[in-house]
Amino acid sequence: MFLFFCNSQMYISRKPDWLKIKIDNTENFAFVKKIVAKNQLHTICSSGKCPNQCECWSRGTATFMIMGDICTKSCKFCATKTGKPLPLDPSEPSKVAESVSLMKLKHCVITSVDRDDLQDKGAAHWAETVHSIRKLNPDCVIELLIPDYQNELLTVVMDSKPDIVGHNLETVERLTPFIRSKATYKNSLETLHQISISGILTKTGIMVGLGETEEEVVQTLLDARNAGTSMVTIGQYLQPSKMNITVTEYITPEQFEKYKAFALDLGFKHVESAPLVRSSYRSDYYYTELHREAQSYTEKKLRKS
Ligand code: SF4
Repeated sequence: MFLFFCNSQMYISRKPDWLKIKIDNTENFAFVKKIVAKNQLHTICSSGKCPNQCECWSRGTATFMIMGDICTKSCKFCATKTGKPLPLDPSEPSKVAESVSLMKLKHCVITSVDRDDLQDKGAAHWAETVHSIRKLNPDCVIELLIPDYQNELLTVVMDSKPDIVGHNLETVERLTPFIRSKATYKNSLETLHQISISGILTKTGIMVGLGETEEEVVQTLLDARNAGTSMVTIGQYLQPSKMNITVTEYITPEQFEKYKAFALDLGFKHVESAPLVRSSYRSDYYYTELHREAQSYTEKKLRKS
């Protein structure tokens, strides 16, 4: 059976055929759901009302969201709750690590809410999570999607030695003040630059369909590439609730292919560009290639030290 979205809370509006997805719940889906509930964890799959939740969870993958499910920012595109977050759960890093182990993940993706209420904005908690995952799952590729940390805060996270670190630009420069809360385009580019100069695989993601022009998307890709980013995801923005900003345009699959070609021409090592692509979508699929590169990065670092 084909429906628009498997997440029942997704705001339904008339959408083109290419955004229809197949519902395919499996035992894996129930297994992932059980692990997440048992360990009282959060996922951006649920909190962000991701349209790929059925597909990803049915394949046994999920993106864990650490530091709670209440964000101190209130971006107009995001479905995550906003407000005063609860105190950090000190046992969360080990619970995430155990879940990665139980799910037998070879590539895990971790993201977080923004915690501007904390003195270190949660950087130490991020590092603790990476250490815990690594200890229990030494062969797992660890991919992080972090807030716009810079300088000392970024160093705290990077010193935990994740394999891939991403930070999303989300949209083109002109639309950033209207779409994102507090975060700026320039700061995000600086975050990407600082990640990349450490030599680690650097990733970003943008949404399209928010009123941007093709030239602006190309400029954004160029800016990200100049900042040293080597992987990019491009996906259609979908309005997760009536409270979020509306979709301006449904971008055609052909246009996504065009953006992919632009990005590859600019020298990105990996590009995912399609209507339902999200930052973590199928990231485990290309883990072998990334793992090889991550290993060579680690080996280079070891040789230098
Ligand atoms: S694309 Fe990412 S956020 Fe969406 S369901 Fe898959 S793993 Fe979760």
